[in-house]
Amino acid sequence: MSSRFIVGNWKMYNTVSQAETLVRAILADYHPHPTVEVAIAPPFIALQTIATLLASNTIHLAAQTVYQEDEGAFTGEISPLMLKAVGCRYVIIGHSERRHVLGETDQDINMKIRAALRHQLHPILCLGERLEEREAGHTTRVVQSQLQQGLAGIPAKEFPQITLAYEPVWAIGTGKAATVDQAAEVHGEIRRYLQEQYGIEPHTQRILYGGSVSPDNAEALFHSSEINGALIGKACLNAESFGRIIALAKAYTP
Ligand code: PEP
Repeated sequence: MSSRFIVGNWKMYNTVSQAETLVRAILADYHPHPTVEVAIAPPFIALQTIATLLASNTIHLAAQTVYQEDEGAFTGEISPLMLKAVGCRYVIIGHSERRHVLGETDQDINMKIRAALRHQLHPILCLGERLEEREAGHTTRVVQSQLQQGLAGIPAKEFPQITLAYEPVWAIGTGKAATVDQAAEVHGEIRRYLQEQYGIEPHTQRILYGGSVSPDNAEALFHSSEINGALIGKACLNAESFGRIIALAKAYTP
């Protein structure tokens, strides 16, 4: 795989007018590149405004989560139909904050992935161990279990629609990114698992790294052919640092 994918997850930051300002600042310095794809995932309330701003641009719109039903009495939720209609191409599913703060289970995540795929939304499935799991030597087991349950019942022919994001929980929002070796090792294990279980050719599955990616560490991460891009939290809330990471992805795409 010879392209990079950079995704900015805004989490619960920015009012609609702040979102508009940030997108305008990102676009002011954005130059499309044939091998670097970019997406931003603002809060739901800003999707429509940002969809309009991105309309003539190659930056894609992503959502931060989705509910598994098309419509119904599910107060506070949002459906894949709605996300598709507003112009989302991607949806982040199973982010660690959804799993560990909001109680999403692997079964919920599996239903969400299926729902997204039903509506031609491309899931970005997040995987990652907690610190205590890593320290106990359980990283591989945890990530494989999340993969197995998250992808249950989904045929391998659908996998090209899915982006994986390895995001160790201990690295998210802590300023303590995984080392390139740590990330590359887990990415390699994910690829081996997908090959053994589903016959997926190792370098065909797009796997991003996420967890305190910044302009200071992105270059080293992008030197690794195991790392197909980055899912970025804090550093994407500033147009300059997000732009610098995108520029590094352009410079170091194999
Ligand atoms: C994230 O929210 O997915 C994330 C990786 O956050 P941060 O870059 O702030 O660690």
